[in-house]
Amino acid sequence: MIPFVDLKAQYHSIKSEVDAAVLGVLESTAFVLGGEVKQFEEEFARYSSAKFGIGVNSGTSALHLALLAAGVGPGDEVITVSMTFVATVAAIGYTGARPVFVDVDPVSYTMDPALIEAVITPRTKVILPVHLYGQMADMDPIMEIARRHNLVVIEDAAQAHGAEYKGRRAGSIGDLGCFSFYPGKNLGAYGEGGMVVTDNPEYTRVIRMLRDWGAEKKYEHVLKGYNYRLEGIQGAILRVKLRHLEDWTEARRAHAHRLNALLAETGLKLPEEVAGRRHVYHVYGLQVDERPRWQQTLQEQGVSSGIHYPIPVHLLPAHADLGYKKGDFPVSEQIASRELSLPMFAELTEEQIDQIVAAVKACVKG
Ligand SMILES: *Cc1c(COP(=O)(O)O)cnc(C)c1O
Repeated sequence: MIPFVDLKAQYHSIKSEVDAAVLGVLESTAFVLGGEVKQFEEEFARYSSAKFGIGVNSGTSALHLALLAAGVGPGDEVITVSMTFVATVAAIGYTGARPVFVDVDPVSYTMDPALIEAVITPRTKVILPVHLYGQMADMDPIMEIARRHNLVVIEDAAQAHGAEYKGRRAGSIGDLGCFSFYPGKNLGAYGEGGMVVTDNPEYTRVIRMLRDWGAEKKYEHVLKGYNYRLEGIQGAILRVKLRHLEDWTEARRAHAHRLNALLAETGLKLPEEVAGRRHVYHVYGLQVDERPRWQQTLQEQGVSSGIHYPIPVHLLPAHADLGYKKGDFPVSEQIASRELSLPMFAELTEEQIDQIVAAVKACVKG
């Protein structure tokens, strides 16, 4: 069976480096924040072309604190997309603000800038695009609209480590960028982790406080804060893995391009890389009718598959209070009902890719 992601293959390829890094933290006893986290913050910020990085305990926490740093609170509105993982929307809810959705464009599956201005109100504070599946949203028009309306832009780059838009890295175009290091993400910890990157020293100062109980100095709590600190062991592991990230990303891109070439003749809707954007293929997804049959056939052919995501957030029971209904975001609803993700990870072999292609062709035949 070809797994959907193969975290074990990746661990074995870097085992000696990771084991040494973990043992180093055990010896240092810097279990929470500490030197490894600090160095990882600097290295990942540099990787993302940002001045500052603040390590936190998840991508969700990164989004929550970025929103708080932008001054978002009860009564405010944050414009985002329904076609995302639920955490984007949950984090907005944590601040007491209201998520306001716009639909995505049918090519990149990211926020459609043409729809933003119609939902801006005097309560709008932030535009929060999501770089879905590893391809960045159309940042130029989003930034232009935000500047014109005096709004802050927060990038949800949880799926887009190293992705680029016109040569600029994910997380570095908006005012703040949020990353997740959940194990299955393109850069994954061996546990939970996240980071906010920004060029703004004041946001950095506030987020550093908020992640650690709002304290400027020990026991001097100036803000109502959280326990959102990144662990030392995760920082050390992430530093090791960051050194391999470009190679892994190039491998993912090569696998995706190979799949695109081999599947072109099927006429299926494959992932499309918009000109000027470096897609990092966190997810390699197709659009198919009869998804249950496809998943069954793939399974029989020894190929795992996933769905990202079967229900857009505006139709999830947990967010029914927002008052949206079926039909409000037709492109998102269409994608959610047809999306089918194939295995995608750097360690995929050519034989595995050929097996995936054969399995997909078996599904097409029916
Ligand atoms: C994974 C993910 C998050 C949340 O990150 P966690 O580290 O799991 O909290 C947020 N947004 C998107 C788009 C994600 O894929």
